[in-house]
Amino acid sequence: MPRIELPGVIDAHVHMRDPGLTHKEDWYSGTCAALHGGVVTVLDMPNNDPPVVDQASLRRKEQAAREQAACDYGLFIGASPQNADSVGALRKPVGLKMYLGDSYGPLRIDDLHVVAGHFQAWPHGRPIAVHAEGYMVAVAIALGRLFDQHVHICHVARRVEIELLRRAKQRSLNVTCEVTPHHLFLTDEDRQCLGPLAYMKPSLGSPDDLAALWENLDVIDLVATDHAPHTLDEKRAAQPPPGVPGLETMLPLLLTAVAERRLSLARLTELVVIGPARVYGLHLPVNSRVVVDTDAAYELQAQDMFTKCGWTPFEGWKVRGRVLSTTVRGMLAYDGERVLASPGFGQPI
Ligand SMILES: [Zn+2]
Repeated sequence: MPRIELPGVIDAHVHMRDPGLTHKEDWYSGTCAALHGGVVTVLDMPNNDPPVVDQASLRRKEQAAREQAACDYGLFIGASPQNADSVGALRKPVGLKMYLGDSYGPLRIDDLHVVAGHFQAWPHGRPIAVHAEGYMVAVAIALGRLFDQHVHICHVARRVEIELLRRAKQRSLNVTCEVTPHHLFLTDEDRQCLGPLAYMKPSLGSPDDLAALWENLDVIDLVATDHAPHTLDEKRAAQPPPGVPGLETMLPLLLTAVAERRLSLARLTELVVIGPARVYGLHLPVNSRVVVDTDAAYELQAQDMFTKCGWTPFEGWKVRGRVLSTTVRGMLAYDGERVLASPGFGQPI
């Protein structure tokens, strides 16, 4: 059995739903899912209910994570119409998350005055991570240039977006970007059978968009899951919320691409470990590693997963590559069957 050891994965884009919507996921269930997926550190987004936009809401999330997380974590702070002048003084957020234009949820900002205020006030050195689609990608890149900020474009999903990012990087702009596994492996054609289970923001692209992401893999700094669980009842409702779980399927899908020679193991490691550490200025996790069996062929099944939501858009997918164990800071945290790390074992980065 070809066992390979990789450094522990850093997932730079997750929604643990805790506090606020813990019937979908909580810090313990979500970080168990992380460990099952070979992820040793998660960076959690701020669009909770209520959103994480100030000291009090950040403290509430820090407390929930401190008590429940089974892997290590960093927290984003959200840009709101009110907090441009105060948010930069908060301790320890890994970055500012800004929801522009077509995005979704309580932190969505449309007002250029507010957006420019954040670009002006945010302390230099830490990234501004933006949910930007279409034109808004160009707006975010331009604002980053105008205010000398590091802009990180989350979940790039369209050919025109990745080609803009290539031009921005050719001109040495301080811009980085990520893609999700669902945009690398699913297209709008999959919506016909998946229905609302394939509904997320940004929506799935065309087969040509998917091809563009693979063609421009050298432009992409990191792959992150945008793990955004909802219950099956919520997804089957008349107005389903956008988002899919992803923590437990990212590594098997990417290892399958390695088996199919669409990706090298070295590049995979850059995309899920070195890239996220570089973008967010993190130290590589010490004594943290994931052992994978690169030959294991099996089907992805939600019943084998730890996420509370109980489904995956990749149900039944045949993959090559299984996580055999995950070690965090020297401790065996997942042994191939069970999560051994207790709630609260996770540390802030
Ligand atoms: Zn997200």
